[in-house]
Amino acid sequence: MKKVVKFGGSSLANAEQFQKVGEIIKSDKSRRYVVPSAPGKRFDGDTKVTDMLYSCYETAASGEDFTNQLKAIKERYYEIVRGLNLNLSLEEEFKTIQADFKNQSGMEYAASRGEFLNGKIMAAYLGYTFVDAAEVIRFRKDGSFDMETTDKLLTKRLEKCECAVIPGFYGACSDGTVRTFSRGGSDVTGSLVARAIQADLYENWTDVSGFLVTDPRIVENPAVIETITYRELRELSYMGATVLHEEAIFPVRKEGIPINIRNTNSPEDKGTFIVESTCRKPRYTITGIAGKKGFCSINIEKSMMNSELGFGRKILQVFEDQGVNFEHVPSGIDTMTVYVHQDEFEEKEQQVIAGIHRAVQPDFVEMEADLALIAVVGRGMRSTRGTAGRIFSALAHANVNVKMIDQGSSELNIIIGVENRDFETAVKAIYDIFVMTQI
Ligand code: ASP
Repeated sequence: MKKVVKFGGSSLANAEQFQKVGEIIKSDKSRRYVVPSAPGKRFDGDTKVTDMLYSCYETAASGEDFTNQLKAIKERYYEIVRGLNLNLSLEEEFKTIQADFKNQSGMEYAASRGEFLNGKIMAAYLGYTFVDAAEVIRFRKDGSFDMETTDKLLTKRLEKCECAVIPGFYGACSDGTVRTFSRGGSDVTGSLVARAIQADLYENWTDVSGFLVTDPRIVENPAVIETITYRELRELSYMGATVLHEEAIFPVRKEGIPINIRNTNSPEDKGTFIVESTCRKPRYTITGIAGKKGFCSINIEKSMMNSELGFGRKILQVFEDQGVNFEHVPSGIDTMTVYVHQDEFEEKEQQVIAGIHRAVQPDFVEMEADLALIAVVGRGMRSTRGTAGRIFSALAHANVNVKMIDQGSSELNIIIGVENRDFETAVKAIYDIFVMTQI
């Protein structure tokens, strides 16, 4: 059995957290490949090392003195080294970093040092081989990620290692220029390593006990999702629920490798399994509820629109020409509505309206702002009658007016449009009806 374990910044913020991580790794021999993030926040109001590196490099790039900023970063690492009683010097590494910052080696290089140094400490602490991600995670010159080369390099390098630490978040071009994934990208590295070694499981350790049924800022202490499919996860993440970097899914999904989200501070919790498919029945009819505020709807009305061939295409072309993405397009006989992100749309509003008038000569165009979309997602909905009925009766009881309904043909989700001010009430009402009543 081979497992890849990735630890997020809060799991590695100080020596105490490192010790918890060490115990987790040692308690299971199959945890052979470790992907660490940079040290995160130790307490509320603290700064992540990655952010310290970004601002230190900004100072360096503007030609100012960055000695004190680099010293503070060094201190974060030595605090860990001392706390672990490790006989490890990072002096050479910091000398190189200082020189590289002076030579303006780039923002991505700067940020990557957070994971690089934490990887060095982790390898020394565990007695595992350190594998520099710059040698095995490959980017192209244009900054895009090169999956094929990475897979080959990683497989070849890790074949020779019984146990290894591979720092997350960064890689390099073939000429050695260091590049990073977007923020939170250590999740992606973990997934790439899992794919390369054909792991049985990719464990992603963080500070929550899994993926929650809904946002804890809206519902107090929501239930944890035990098993979720990749498709369900995609629907929920798209609507704003985040635990995992979006791009972390693709490498393992193709290989059918499950991901297990776990909590470093509560290792006895089983966490959430993310799988390609499952016959396990979900605990509740729905798997999760997520949503976002800040949408706007453009309602277009024209009599006999239904018999006008190409009407929908012409409307959507106007949005495309203005570079505005659309979210949903519910339609009636003589009406078509387009949902867009308000902030993206506001600037282009008048051009879009003019474009619609030119393209289809509507009877009238009307807009409504400050709308929220809620996605109710669950593979269990497919086989259960009355799910929609329950959602809407819960919303009616909570006095929420439903503006739009859209059920995907996969029956995996129902999207509901409500006014921004009703958003929290609506999410709570849906959560209560499915989770609190336990059906
Ligand atoms: N340290 C990086 C960040 O803060 C990457 C990561 O933690 O995954 O975004």
